[in-house]
Amino acid sequence: MEAGKIQIRQFDRLTAEPGLEHAVFTRQGGNSTGPFDSLNVGMNSGDRAKIIASNRKLIIRQMGMKPHLFLNQVHGKEIQILKKEDNDPAETVEPGGEIYTADGIITDMEDLVLVIQVADCQAVMFYDPEKRVIANVHSGWRGSVGNIAGACVDKMRTVFGCRPERILAGIGPSLGPCCAEFIHYRTEIPKHLWPYKAADRDYFDFWQMTADQLKDKGIKAGNIENMKTCTKCNTRLFYSYREEKTTGRFACVIAMV
Ligand SMILES: [Zn+2]
Repeated sequence: MEAGKIQIRQFDRLTAEPGLEHAVFTRQGGNSTGPFDSLNVGMNSGDRAKIIASNRKLIIRQMGMKPHLFLNQVHGKEIQILKKEDNDPAETVEPGGEIYTADGIITDMEDLVLVIQVADCQAVMFYDPEKRVIANVHSGWRGSVGNIAGACVDKMRTVFGCRPERILAGIGPSLGPCCAEFIHYRTEIPKHLWPYKAADRDYFDFWQMTADQLKDKGIKAGNIENMKTCTKCNTRLFYSYREEKTTGRFACVIAMV
């Protein structure tokens, strides 16, 4: 692997929005070695805490030294809400710390970077340019089954008054339909989601599932962007738990400025 520079990937629609910054950091350009090579931000990955902290600092520097909110992600349904009127980022956010256990976060605060860490799971980013609200959600297969992406849209609507038809969404690099084999799907995945299984084998299309969950909540198909990059097929650039087992987590970040 070429030694490295930090590399990011971006969604076209989100890049075009003024006052918004986002990035999917590849695994390149960090300090970790071995299976964690190299920009690993996942505290529970098995990598050394000191090195993970140094990688998080590289990302924080890349994003202009703003406060970053990393979540203690647990494949649950909790979505943390941070409202500008209740919070001062300097007081509520410990840069690089994980003060909330949740798998999603929504805020109307500027200059606060929301981070989701993944290795096969989807990071789903949201932006409502009308109400100026952002969200970032961690949706693995358990999140897909629990429809955490749809729950995020509901909360953006009910808590912040967002109109779903105005919301832009991006689905980051994650396990694609080429590799999402679920041999125990009969016990793991509820029957109403079996239409997302391939006809001839036990592979599921979680990308389409998420897109449909967002559309069901009123997000326009044209406002949903999927990088359609399978992590298991692209371990040079991204971490894949399925492919590598012992591996890191890459960072997907979004912030209003
Ligand atoms: Zn694949």
